[in-house]
Amino acid sequence: MSTLVIKPRARLFHGHEWVYATEVQRVLGDPQPGAVVQLQNVKNRPLGSAIYNPHSQIVARRFSRRKQDLDADFFQRRIERALTLREAMGFSEPVYRLVWSEADGLPGLVIDRYGPHFVLQTLTMAMDQRKKLIVKGLNAVFQPKSIIERNDSPIRKAEGLEAVTGVLHGASPGPLEIEVLGVRQTVDLLEGQKTGIYLDQIDNYAAVAALAKGARVLDCFCNQGGFALHCARAGAASVTAVDSSESAIATARVNAAANGLTIDFVAANAFDLLKKAESALSPGEEGPYDLIVLDPPSFTRNRKSLNDALRGYKEIHLRALKLLARDGILATFCCSHHVSRGEFLQVLCDASVDAKQTVRLLATHGQRRDHPVIPTLPETEYLKGHTVQAMAGW
Ligand code: SAH
Repeated sequence: MSTLVIKPRARLFHGHEWVYATEVQRVLGDPQPGAVVQLQNVKNRPLGSAIYNPHSQIVARRFSRRKQDLDADFFQRRIERALTLREAMGFSEPVYRLVWSEADGLPGLVIDRYGPHFVLQTLTMAMDQRKKLIVKGLNAVFQPKSIIERNDSPIRKAEGLEAVTGVLHGASPGPLEIEVLGVRQTVDLLEGQKTGIYLDQIDNYAAVAALAKGARVLDCFCNQGGFALHCARAGAASVTAVDSSESAIATARVNAAANGLTIDFVAANAFDLLKKAESALSPGEEGPYDLIVLDPPSFTRNRKSLNDALRGYKEIHLRALKLLARDGILATFCCSHHVSRGEFLQVLCDASVDAKQTVRLLATHGQRRDHPVIPTLPETEYLKGHTVQAMAGW
C-alpha cells in the first residue's frame, strides 16, 4: 500500500481529517486516484488510513486512525454504527440522514433514508469507485426497497467525477408520500429537483412553528413549503410563502392541499417581493408580518465571493426587519459553510443597526443531529440560524 508523508504543522495535527496537496512531503509508491493510502509523519509514525485523489486539492481524507482497507465488511460495520447512532437519536420516523460523510467515518459518502428507500451520493473518487460495496453494505443491514443514486451535485467536479443519477437497487418508487412531524409531503427521490426534503431543517421547522400560532407568517425561499407547512399546521393566522422556482411552488401547493392547509404560495424573486412590500409601507408604519422566515440558497460557493454574499444576506435581513410588526420575529438561516456563525450574526446585527431596530436573540439553530458536526473539521458544519425578536418602541 502507498504512503503519504505529511509535513509537520499540517492541519491533520490540529484535529482536521484532510490533507491538502501542499501538506504532502513525499509520496511513497504509486497510488492511483481513489486508492487507500497510509499516512505517516516525517518520523515514520503512522497516522492512519486515508482515501487518495491527486486530482483534488484535498489529496487525502483520513477515514481511520488505524490501518484499514475499504472492503465490504468495513462498509457494513460503518453503516451499522451509523444506524445505531440514528436509532439512539429518537426520531419519530425513519426519515433521516443515515450517513453524513466524515462525521460517520465515510468521507464523501452521504446516504439519506426515507423508510425503506435510500438516496446515495458519492462525492469522493474513492467512494464513487466503491458504490457496489456500499450497496452491498446497505443490503446487509436493511431490506431496502430502493437505493437511488443522486450524484448530480456540482461538488463532484472537484474530484473529477461526472454527474449521474439512477437506480442502484430495486425500482424507483416514483413520487413517494412521507410524513414528518405530522406534515405529509410528496418527494421524488430520483426525478425531484432536490434529493427528497431538507432533513437538516426538520428540528428548525418545529422550533419556528412553535412561535407561529396566531401569527401572520411570511416564508421566503420556501422551496416545497417546509417552514410554511409547519407554521400553518401550528395555527398561523395566515401564511404567505415565496420561491422563485415554479416547480417548487407547484409541489408546495400539492403539499398544502394534501394536509388541508391554506397557504398563499407565490412564485417570485424574494428580493423583489421584499422590496415591493417594503415600499408599500408608509413612513413609520408597522410591518404586516409577525413572523418572517429567511432560508435562502447558499449565496456563495467560495470565499472569494463572500463579500457579495454578505451584502445579499444583509439586504434581505434589512428588508425583513422593516416588514415586521410590533414584537415581530425573524427566523433566518444560512446554509453556506463559507459564512461563519459569527459572520452571519454580524450581518444580522448590521441590518438591525441600519433598520434602527434592537433585536433580541431567542434561539440559535444548526443542522439536525443526524448531520453531526466535527468541531475540528469546520467543513462538516454548514447550516446556522438565528431567531430574533424585534424590540420596537423600547
Ligand atoms: N426553506 C426551504 C428550503 C430553501 S432552499 C425548506 O425548508 O424546504 C432555497 C430555495 O431558494 C430554493 O427553493 C430556490 O428555488 C429558492 N431561491 C433561490 N433564489 C431565489 C430568489 N431570488 N427568490 C426566491 N427564491 C429563490
